[in-house]
Amino acid sequence: MAERRKYSKKYCKYCEAKVEMIDYKDLSLLKQTLSERYKIMPKRLTGNCKKHQEMAEKAIKRARQAAFIPYIVDRKNVAVTPFELLK
Ligand SMILES: [Zn+2]
Repeated sequence: MAERRKYSKKYCKYCEAKVEMIDYKDLSLLKQTLSERYKIMPKRLTGNCKKHQEMAEKAIKRARQAAFIPYIVDRKNVAVTPFELLK
């Protein structure tokens, strides 16, 4: 269970910040639920509550369609920000 330590503190970050609505344009909020490869993290890892997890999922899917977030990240460019790739 060593790799689980990273997420040992389980609480909903959105509830703590008292977020009512997760906007798809607000990337700083969405990043709480995204992995470094821009995948949606499951709520068992992030500790998000059901309400906020569903809200974040919808917002992330919208953000992908609006090209705020990439759908896939190239294996070689994991560390590079997606905004540089779009140039
Ligand atoms: Zn919550």
